[in-house]
Amino acid sequence: ATPTAILAGTGRGAQLGILIAGPEALEQARRIDTVVLDKTGTVTSGEMSLARIRSLDASVDEDALLTLAASVEDASEHPLARAIVAAARDRGLALEPVADFRNEAGRGVVGVVDGAEVRVGRVVSQPQDGAGAVEVSASDSVIAEFSSAGQTPVLVRVDGKPIGVIAVADTIKPTSADAVTHLRELGLEPVLLTGDHELVAKAVAAEVGIDRVIAGVLPEQKAQVIAKLQSEGQKVAMVGDGVNDAPALATADLGIAMGGGTDAAIEASDITLVRDDLQAAVDAIRLSRGSNRVIM
Ligand code: ADP
Ligand code: MG
Repeated sequence: ATPTAILAGTGRGAQLGILIAGPEALEQARRIDTVVLDKTGTVTSGEMSLARIRSLDASVDEDALLTLAASVEDASEHPLARAIVAAARDRGLALEPVADFRNEAGRGVVGVVDGAEVRVGRVVSQPQDGAGAVEVSASDSVIAEFSSAGQTPVLVRVDGKPIGVIAVADTIKPTSADAVTHLRELGLEPVLLTGDHELVAKAVAAEVGIDRVIAGVLPEQKAQVIAKLQSEGQKVAMVGDGVNDAPALATADLGIAMGGGTDAAIEASDITLVRDDLQAAVDAIRLSRGSNRVIM
């Protein structure tokens, strides 16, 4: 939304901390039947912390595994990376120098430590609506164990060989479950969309009452997922916060950026929330449906 357009959304919406780009947004809000929710930072707080560490290699203990992972993650701004680095610092571990660092959005990070290529990142990707399988599955029970508990598993590989799994936990925002109930009361179908592992997504979905989950989606595929739902005849609202969400927010019939969202997400959206919880998105839809005149 342009700054001028945001100015148009003064009045009642602004009082509630809901900035509406213009009359088209209100029109779209009346027509939507599906609300796609980004998981991390939208349904969950996105404030991650280390949950567990499991070595898969007898010669690598927990601290050595954490040191390797944190060394490579040190250059990443991703919440998963911040959690891993913070945990290493808490344990007083000294990070190692990293050469040839690369960030692969929605996949993980890579770098060379002591002559070996260390890769920290996603474990598996199931083929999903609009998204093909992209990486090999490390079919380890550790991954299933962690992810079915709702913790995001991150695989650490050295020269291609899996040496351990680090699980990072996020927390569900306190208002998310009620907000999902309210979406249903408005006749809207909630869908959870994420780049995270499918089992993690399902665990979060179950806790907030969402039945439909689209997981393992790469950042560049999020918009395709929205387009696919639209091609099936659905009128889609998307609620998100991240840079990665911007193309999907722009593709959706109604894009809603969460409070605290990135500039890219806000610019791609029709509605911007000041509050940082999902209930604000419900309020925005309700308000838009209720009355055009009050808001404009
Ligand atoms: P989301 O859709 O939940 O916002 P992302 O697209 O940012 O998630 O990331 C998807 C997945 O990619 C993560 O669940 C993780 O497995 C992996 N990933 C992304 N960035 C990193 C990183 N810096 N370190 C480890 N894994 C990462
Ligand atoms: Mg997000």
